[in-house]
Amino acid sequence: MFRKVFYLPIRWRLTAWFVELLAAVLLLFGLIFYFTLQTNFLARIDESLNRRADEVQSRLDLITKNIPNAQEIALILENDPVNEFAEPGLYAQILDRTGRVQGDSASLGKARLPIDPALIESALNGQFSLSEAQVSSERVRIRYTALTAGGQVVGVLQVGESLKPFNETLGRVRGLLFLVGGVALLVAAVGGWFLTRRALRPVVRVTETARRIARTRDFDERIPLSNSFKGRFDEIGDLAATFNHMIEELGRVFDTNRQFMADTSHELRTPLTIIQGNLDVLSRGLPPAESQEALDETREEATRLSRLVGDLLLLAQADAGLTVERLPVDLAAITRQSFRRAEGLAVTSGKTLHLKIERLDEAPILGDEYRLGQVVFNLLENAIRYTPDGGSVTLSLEVLRGPPVARLSVRDTGVGISLEHLPHLFERFYRVDKARSRALGGSGLGLAIVKYIVDAHGGQVAVQSEPGQGSVFTLTLPLRASNLPPS
Ligand code: ADP
Repeated sequence: MFRKVFYLPIRWRLTAWFVELLAAVLLLFGLIFYFTLQTNFLARIDESLNRRADEVQSRLDLITKNIPNAQEIALILENDPVNEFAEPGLYAQILDRTGRVQGDSASLGKARLPIDPALIESALNGQFSLSEAQVSSERVRIRYTALTAGGQVVGVLQVGESLKPFNETLGRVRGLLFLVGGVALLVAAVGGWFLTRRALRPVVRVTETARRIARTRDFDERIPLSNSFKGRFDEIGDLAATFNHMIEELGRVFDTNRQFMADTSHELRTPLTIIQGNLDVLSRGLPPAESQEALDETREEATRLSRLVGDLLLLAQADAGLTVERLPVDLAAITRQSFRRAEGLAVTSGKTLHLKIERLDEAPILGDEYRLGQVVFNLLENAIRYTPDGGSVTLSLEVLRGPPVARLSVRDTGVGISLEHLPHLFERFYRVDKARSRALGGSGLGLAIVKYIVDAHGGQVAVQSEPGQGSVFTLTLPLRASNLPPS
């Protein structure tokens, strides 16, 4: 809720950042530019004041050889045909040593340049100084310099220049900077908004597609990479491609789950229907022999049902990430035990089969005794199930010392499996011959469980088979290396 209130689209945020950054840069640039300009202008004014003061002094030097006083100097300068200070905005004022005004330039009219006694004092001591003051309606920059005649300081010269044109120029520059800055920010804001909108359009597409898929469950939908992404191989193109890939995977998982649900319901329904049918028949009262047959069949289906439910539970746990135990166990002992159980099964199958253990190396591994027993038994059970009367089932457990692994193989001389079925054999509910498998008590989950358990142990399972000749299922499981039996 809190987050929603402050929700600001990334488009706006990017634009705002962009504009803020540009504003900061423009401000910095503007300030540097403005103050540099101001300093330069002032330096030029000061320079020109300096020059004018020098001119006055040198004119004086030319005219007077003896030592006149400030009043005489003022007279001399005022009568000079070249009145330097006739033009407006340039002023001069001549003071005697006590700071009294003795003369001024025509440009001053009735006005007076303000007099700062401290600055007169320092000028009389041979130091020039600069100040600013208000004269009538203008700011004026004033330079105080000592006037000398015949090698003696006779008074103080004030030369001033109006800062009006300078301030006007600076004002115009300020206005221009604000205008240009404002326009630049506006262009940046609008441009940034459009650009980010354009750049983010594919992201919007991804979002829309994801929403649509969530609503319609149509996992065939894809983001058309060719149109809106124009073959882009950037981060967003990557995102879209990854998204498409994810949807494909999701679709596959969804389909598999749907199929799995359908298969599961079907598998559960068949024994339930048979049980229900038998119960109906039994409730009608039958001769003992037929009743017994119906009861046997019901028991058989109930057993099948409970086994199926057990298998499903295991696979569901596998999907939920159930981990197997990893305790030190001897695969040979587990194999022997499963083999004994299989021998019992072979007897009840009513077929004559030759079951034998060809080799049984001691194989210490880290694993789950119960689950591994289930694996070996499932393979033996399949071998017995799909091997006709008179055939043989051979089991072998061998320890290999390349990378140390235990290799267990179950070989039969049964019906075999043709090549096209081999890649699917370990899928849930996959059966080469459904009717036959069911008739023999199979559910199509056995090998899926084998694969899951072997994978969880870090091992592999493989199959080789030839129709009519038989099959070999081979497991390889990593050995507990620290405890290898001596070779
Ligand atoms: P099922 O319960 O049907 O045996 P499995 O997952 O154990 O299910 O096996 C899947 C299918 O693989 C079986 O239906 C069968 O067609 C085939 N299969 C498994 N083991 C053998 C084997 N030893 N010989 C021939 N076919 C086999």
